[in-house]
Amino acid sequence: MSFQSLGLSEPLLRAVVERGYQDPTAVQQAVIPEVLRHRDVWARASTGSGKTAAFVLPILEALSRRELVVPRRVQALILVPTRELAKQTTDEIAGFRRHLRQRPKTVVVLGGVSINPQMMELRGGADIVVATPGRLLDLVANNALSLGAVSQLVLDEADRLLDTGFADELGRIVALLPAARQTLLFSATFSPAVSRLAEQLLREPVRIDVTETPTEVPAIQQRAIEVDAPRRTQLLRHLLEHHDWERVLVFVATTHATEHVSAKLQSAGINAIALHGKLSQGARTRALDLFRSSSVHVLVATDLASRGLDITGLPAVVNYDLPRSPNDYVHRIGRTGRAGESGVAISFITPDMKAHFALIEKRHQHFLVRERIAGFEPTQAATPVQATVQATGGIKGRRKSKKDKLREAAGRDDKD
Ligand code: AMP
Repeated sequence: MSFQSLGLSEPLLRAVVERGYQDPTAVQQAVIPEVLRHRDVWARASTGSGKTAAFVLPILEALSRRELVVPRRVQALILVPTRELAKQTTDEIAGFRRHLRQRPKTVVVLGGVSINPQMMELRGGADIVVATPGRLLDLVANNALSLGAVSQLVLDEADRLLDTGFADELGRIVALLPAARQTLLFSATFSPAVSRLAEQLLREPVRIDVTETPTEVPAIQQRAIEVDAPRRTQLLRHLLEHHDWERVLVFVATTHATEHVSAKLQSAGINAIALHGKLSQGARTRALDLFRSSSVHVLVATDLASRGLDITGLPAVVNYDLPRSPNDYVHRIGRTGRAGESGVAISFITPDMKAHFALIEKRHQHFLVRERIAGFEPTQAATPVQATVQATGGIKGRRKSKKDKLREAAGRDDKD
């Protein structure tokens, strides 16, 4: 299927070509025509699926069919959980609107930075607002913008919006919107919490599911390497030396581990930096900028801190600690292999985590050969009885007993 057949007009098609997109992704093929038909949409699609363009393109198409008035009134509201997603969305909008006869004005509204510049920018209104929920409400309270003319609402990564504790804010925002509007909801899961939100917000939605099919990840080479837990940092160094990766994103389980692993790498002369939720917004932005500009070679992050991260040209992702859930696995590996580039996702499988990784594989029906690297072959056996408990947290849905915790404390072997 081509972009031409989706119902987009020529100025947008031209921009699509200039952006280097040849064919629409699965989510774009499914979503764009439905949005143009004014249907509410609930799509399950993870980062990396092309979901941003799937809502940005039809929103721009809808705006291009109307006369944009001055002062501008917010017609499309895009709610996102993180600064990184906001940036990615505005980048897509800026890339696609360039040939439109009337270029919609887009304003980004984010918490964690000074409110005044955002208030200034909103003078004279905006056609599209990309926002995190809390700051949006602050601006409404300050009369800096009104939501009474919104005809299209997008909730991007709705599950993360809920995880981040924005549920109350979402309710208050929706109460300010006209009832006659189109709502598009994107989430990585169809979890009960997201389902409840969808029931409240969507009217007879088209449900689109393009995520977690085994065909979703062919551009990404997945590898599983067996190694003892205490030797993971050395194995990581070995891989860094033997591959010509421009940048590597390394996932660990805890804030402490981001600091620990990045410090170990630094002392080995590798340019590494930690990214975790306890950093200030400024420090996070700096870390990401350094990584994007290739001043830093390795970014060591937790799942939470890397939410919504979109870095093109990321050839490798390493699961130093395995993710807790199969969904997180998809989120993580989807950071590489973006925009048609090839990417590799490597998981370190320690003896204690074998069973856990097998569960992830089973869930995705995608099974990997276990590799061993010469000099790093595992020699340890799984901790007896408790073979499936992760160093931090355990398997989702399974509570650790007191005995488990004691065993874990006794057997903690991550001291590289
Ligand atoms: P997203 O899932 O929206 O985070 O998009 C993932 C990445 O894919 C972004 O870097 C987009 O620029 C890129 N992308 C989106 N749609 C296409 C497409 N049809 N062809 C090639 N790259 C795309």
